[in-house]
Amino acid sequence: MADKRDYYEVLGVPKTATKEEIKKAYRKLAIENHPDKNPGDKAAEERFKEATEAYEVLSDDAKRQNYDSYGFAGVDNSQGFGNAAYRDFSDLFSGGGFGSIFEDLFGFGGASRARAQSNPNVGQSIRVNIEVDLQDIMGDCKKELTYYHQVPCEACHGTGSSKGTASSKTCPTCGGAGQVRQSSGFFSVSRTCPTCGGRGVVITDPCPSCKGSGTVRKSQTLRVKIPAGIENGADIIIPQMGNAGQNNATPGDLYVRVNIRPHKYFVRQGEDLFVQIPISMTQAALGLDIEVKNLMGQTVKVSIPAGVQNGKIIRVKGQGLPRYRNAASMGDMYIKFQIETPKRLGLKAKQLMKELSDAMGENPSPNPVPFEND
Ligand SMILES: [Zn+2]
Ligand SMILES: [Zn+2]
Repeated sequence: MADKRDYYEVLGVPKTATKEEIKKAYRKLAIENHPDKNPGDKAAEERFKEATEAYEVLSDDAKRQNYDSYGFAGVDNSQGFGNAAYRDFSDLFSGGGFGSIFEDLFGFGGASRARAQSNPNVGQSIRVNIEVDLQDIMGDCKKELTYYHQVPCEACHGTGSSKGTASSKTCPTCGGAGQVRQSSGFFSVSRTCPTCGGRGVVITDPCPSCKGSGTVRKSQTLRVKIPAGIENGADIIIPQMGNAGQNNATPGDLYVRVNIRPHKYFVRQGEDLFVQIPISMTQAALGLDIEVKNLMGQTVKVSIPAGVQNGKIIRVKGQGLPRYRNAASMGDMYIKFQIETPKRLGLKAKQLMKELSDAMGENPSPNPVPFEND
């Protein structure tokens, strides 16, 4: 992943390719490298993800324009391009029953596609939060997530009808309009029909399990892959794991918002980590080698030069977080030294300190310097 391939190169299309050509190229690659077709083949999975990422950008006019103008920076979330949307296909396809995304995208299953087109009632996308620790994103991690969503009712196969056949009739209340007019004084206002909920039809034999809605609330547990180095507040989009649509229309997507718990000591800035380390004034004056713990608790040796000043920041290369989508490259750890003046001195220490003060020939009337906020 160190060198990202150009999106056009990934899809094997020229920069002038039309939307149709891009879709065709992606479709071919996606079929060839589909994880279901190549179980256990990591290389195919990588090609599949790479092609999907390229397609997501090049199939979207705004994203494509940004990419054409600014390259990867134009579509990178760190450049203010909205939240990182990471489509996790490995979980998607191992979870079972998700093949339908392809039916809808490419029309493999003509029936389901036609249904989605004829029925605009696609399911709602829903958002859930997941909390992780800063340490968790040092590598890709998997977190179990349990949430509730609407799924097609099993009793009526999502039709809402007890016979399992979508037998419906024009709504008697609104006559199929989905709206009813209500008079109130001089005014007459339109509102959604309470009988049919705006659908214009009513199920003649409502399913007792779902009361005719076709969907039921169900708990769902997923293992969500959280990619290394993800930003706080970014969304992982799991297609079609939102709410089921009416009458088996395409379900909405699940947006998993990643909230990273603040760390006790480390503060994150991009892929870099900042930490403060207190040292004594004698250590600061003499300089020394210290051992500090990185985010994972591993010992890192750091040399403090003699005469280091309070507030000085030194960089420890490669001890930060992995870069998002480029985990081989690591950010840095920055240590800010906080020099502590001893609050209480023992007899011996006090005596030595006095001797030290004399030896240093200190100035009893120091000159001012410009005020500096820490
Ligand atoms: Zn109605
Ligand atoms: Zn039902």
